[in-house]
Amino acid sequence: MNRWAPPLPAKSARTHDAPLDITRLLTTITTNLVGMIYRCRVDACWTMEYVSDCCLRLTGYRPDEIVFNNRISYEQITLPDDRERVGRAIDAALKQNETFEVEYRIQRADGRVLWVLERGVGIRDETGRLVWIEGYIQDISQRMAANEMLHEAVRRYSSLFEHATEGIFQTTPEGRYLNANPALARIYGHASPDDLITYLQDIPRQLYVLPERRAEFVRLLQEQGVVHNFESQVYRRDGSIIWISENARVVKDTDGSVQFFEGTVVDVTERRLHDEKLEYQASHDSLTGLPNRSLLRDCIEQAIAKARRDGHLVAVVFVDLDHFKLINDSLGHHVGDRLLLEVSDRLIACVRGHDSVARQGGDEFVIVLTEQNDENEIIAVVSRLLEAISQPWIDNGQEYGLSCSVGVSCYPRDGDDPDGLLRSADAAMYKAKASGRSTYHFYTPELNQAISERLELENSLRHALEREEFRVYYQPRVDVSSGRIIGAEALIRWDCPGKGIIPPDSFISIAEETGLIIPIGQWILHEACRQNSLWQRAGLPPINVSVNLSPIQFRHAGLVQSVAAALAQAGLDPTHLELELTESFVMHDAERINVAMQSLKALGVDIAVDDFGTGYSSLSYLKRFPVDRLKVDKSFVRDIDSDPDDAAIVRAIITLGHALGLKVVAEGVETHAHLEFLRQHGCDELQGYYFSRPVPAVEMETLLRNARATPSGTTG
Ligand code: C2E
Ligand code: CA
Ligand code: CA
Repeated sequence: MNRWAPPLPAKSARTHDAPLDITRLLTTITTNLVGMIYRCRVDACWTMEYVSDCCLRLTGYRPDEIVFNNRISYEQITLPDDRERVGRAIDAALKQNETFEVEYRIQRADGRVLWVLERGVGIRDETGRLVWIEGYIQDISQRMAANEMLHEAVRRYSSLFEHATEGIFQTTPEGRYLNANPALARIYGHASPDDLITYLQDIPRQLYVLPERRAEFVRLLQEQGVVHNFESQVYRRDGSIIWISENARVVKDTDGSVQFFEGTVVDVTERRLHDEKLEYQASHDSLTGLPNRSLLRDCIEQAIAKARRDGHLVAVVFVDLDHFKLINDSLGHHVGDRLLLEVSDRLIACVRGHDSVARQGGDEFVIVLTEQNDENEIIAVVSRLLEAISQPWIDNGQEYGLSCSVGVSCYPRDGDDPDGLLRSADAAMYKAKASGRSTYHFYTPELNQAISERLELENSLRHALEREEFRVYYQPRVDVSSGRIIGAEALIRWDCPGKGIIPPDSFISIAEETGLIIPIGQWILHEACRQNSLWQRAGLPPINVSVNLSPIQFRHAGLVQSVAAALAQAGLDPTHLELELTESFVMHDAERINVAMQSLKALGVDIAVDDFGTGYSSLSYLKRFPVDRLKVDKSFVRDIDSDPDDAAIVRAIITLGHALGLKVVAEGVETHAHLEFLRQHGCDELQGYYFSRPVPAVEMETLLRNARATPSGTTG
């Protein structure tokens, strides 16, 4: 095809019908062809003897400038870099008596470089001597440029293919590789693309962990032509499993039949692991690793679904630690966290594999017991659980007594969805707490009544302050030796319309949980100071009024200012105010509490440790704290005359208090026998029904007046 046909011999170019003007034909061709026809000598500079008119268009030189090298030789036009190669190619062809075909560059008159294709043939004289070359030179710059672009594109795409970080593949629908790039080999753990292609002969089974996944991939491709972000688990060469994401499309023949699939693969293992971790974190409690509130709902739902099928009971067991808040607030979060971990371990140890233990939040755990046959089985588990939790806990050498309150609800009796069952179990748990803690309670419909009462109470409590429903009662404190009233404890009462006087035990914990204790505590401080100041101004014997502080108030930043403001507003000397803190609270988180106590003490008020003997005391703390009084808890005083243990404890507290230079007050003094015992053992001050119940301010005033009238004492 690329054979150059030598010019037609003029004589043979005739037809039978019409005479052919061969000269005219050749002129037409030579003037109109885009290429240049030439004849040149076989000499060093290819001296042109003839060039067609196209010479000007091709080279920018007129034919007469080139012919006989008039202005420039064709050799000179040929780009120096190409001359030798062109010469060699032509020589070789001429020697063989063949036509030649060579591509090279010329420099046009205007300086532009052009690619040309030259085809030619040697012409010999009668003796066989080579005299001329005749041929045709044609501009192929456009084709060369297109070729160059094509090459560049191929280079670029193959570089993309070779160096891509994404794996790239072509596979047959049946599951064999046609093509794979190095990245794919790397992702799948093969040494090279060839290794991968030879090794993986059955993609569905050798590569995919679940062959169904490959089937799904093929199905989607066949139905939609493309798949996007298709994620699967695959085996690497070493057997390890990774997650990949594929994007692929179908490549079809012109007749529409599937030729192959091609697409890309990225390793998304890390992201999947991260997602799984996030999902785990979203459904598990970070401290204990137990399922959290949201996963708990799923657990209950599944348990219900299963119970529906097999007719068993499901028990939702709500476990709430007793006094956890106190431990957490006073001992610090680290101890609180360790305690929660311990409880979580103990709970897990009480249940079987198919039951679940979840953390509902704070100190609340929920256990879902499945496959229960009757209530007795549930009771057995719950009793085991109470027993396990009540084992003493030793942390950093300190021993703590633990207990929890448990509420139980059952599917199907008490509800048929997670929220309902949880609500019922929660209500039952409240009942257990109310009936003395460290116990369990099953849900009963009446409990709803109790719950709504509590809610109602909480609501009314929110308005009690503005509606001025709180009262302060005072209970005198008597000096043992003189029998005189030297102080009084301010005790709050709630005069709730329709309910009468409500004692503090029924609402202080609600006030603490809701934060209402802060404004209520402030109010009683102001009220007690105001009242005491009034009494003094009325000329009654000056006494010291003590006010109880909740741990919540103690943690609140504004406490010291609040006390100072109460004193200032009432115009009361600080020595006539005492603040009471319960022992269990005082004895822990010592550093922080000490700082707060010191700043209170700096105001000039007294500080008493309340309910002494019930907490976990540490002598060293007591010594360091700026404490003025110990108040022996009334539970020890009650049986002081009959229970030798209690008697011993009270004697020890009195001795201890005195050794530390503190005054000792006994609470709950109800009988003359109590009084005698305490007097004998050197107790300093007494408080209790034996002298007076807590009474409203007016009655307290009467007691104070009488005391002034009868300085011998108030006993009787
Ligand atoms: P507490 O600080 O230990 O107060 C002494 C409690 O013992 C008072 O109960 C008092 O009425 C009672 N009591 C006094 N003498 C006797 C007796 O001879 N025998 C018996 N069995 N009990 C006696 P009350 O007033 O019901 O207060 C209960 C608790 O409520 C107080 O215990 C205190 O912890 C708390 N509380 C009272 N008022 C306030 C307050 O204003 N703020 C705070 N945060 N807590 C308060
Ligand atoms: Ca008290
Ligand atoms: Ca007390």
